[in-house]
Amino acid sequence: MVDVGFIGLGNMGLPMATNLAKAGHAVKVFDMSEAQLSKAAAEGMTPCATAAAACEGSEIVVTMLPNGQIVHAVLDEIVPACAKGTLIIDCSTIDVDSAKSAHQIASNAGLGFLDCPVSGGVGGAAAGSLTFMIGGDESALKNGEQVLDVMGGKLVHCGGAGAGQAAKICNNMMLSISMIGTAEAFNLGMKLGLEPQAIFDVMSTSSGFCWSINNYCPVPGVGPQSPADNDYKPGFASSLMIKDATLAQQAADSVGQSTPLAAQALELYKQFASTSDIDYDFSGIIKWLETQNR
Ligand code: NAD
Repeated sequence: MVDVGFIGLGNMGLPMATNLAKAGHAVKVFDMSEAQLSKAAAEGMTPCATAAAACEGSEIVVTMLPNGQIVHAVLDEIVPACAKGTLIIDCSTIDVDSAKSAHQIASNAGLGFLDCPVSGGVGGAAAGSLTFMIGGDESALKNGEQVLDVMGGKLVHCGGAGAGQAAKICNNMMLSISMIGTAEAFNLGMKLGLEPQAIFDVMSTSSGFCWSINNYCPVPGVGPQSPADNDYKPGFASSLMIKDATLAQQAADSVGQSTPLAAQALELYKQFASTSDIDYDFSGIIKWLETQNR
């Protein structure tokens, strides 16, 4: 059992930290939100007054925060509070450059670091079945496995510093495109008089097969349960898809790689999101696409 510091107890961080506490690790926590700290205390964790206090005496520190700027602000505070050899595991989704510079800051202070974004959403966080995409060196990963195995079902070592974030945004960039492709195929098929079930039965077993159809179908009443069956409540909110698709475009700019479909997909999600104050699931774009003029 290890002493863990955990910073960022939001929709993802709280259930992840709860799983660590349930597994018997001693977990000290910090979040800006008093309400989240109280929920963590009710699960047997120790709330702290500052991020630095949560890291003092901790062998492993996990961060689960909204973006790269906030991760770096927190690192400025916690790095001086961590004992030499402490491992920091950042599970937030952030830009590749921020992840690389975080590795450097930790290394300069004699600390280990892993960039470890996740896939699997709030359900995976609660079930302890997240997939971790990991960037960093082997020895840091070996050390981190004792907590990552509790929070996740699959660990993929993608390479050195920043490789986890790179893999994460490539995956979500592809998802941003495949969901729109799925939505366009359903909209066209239904306009041509096909029943949604017939479209699903064909595409889910033919060359159109993909996660957006088979696991997360954007049409209600067909396929496994998905946000479409719940009025497009997230799930994976459009704002989070826009965040990840924007990170992918920034990364593409940084290396001069052309990604025309992903660039177009990002613009479409932005237009869809601007039509409502409600942050619908990203698959809800099917309803907006249905209303667009050809
Ligand atoms: P969230 O907004 O629910 O939680 C973020 C938490 O960080 C909040 O509790 C907030 O109070 C806290 N926080 C903000 N600034 C802080 C600071 N300076 N110090 C301490 N705490 C601070 O977000 P989330 O849904 O839990 O997502 C967290 C990360 O995981 C994001 O990077 C997101 O992109 C990624 N992610 C989310 C999902 C998802 O389905 N929600 C899936 C995969 C990855």
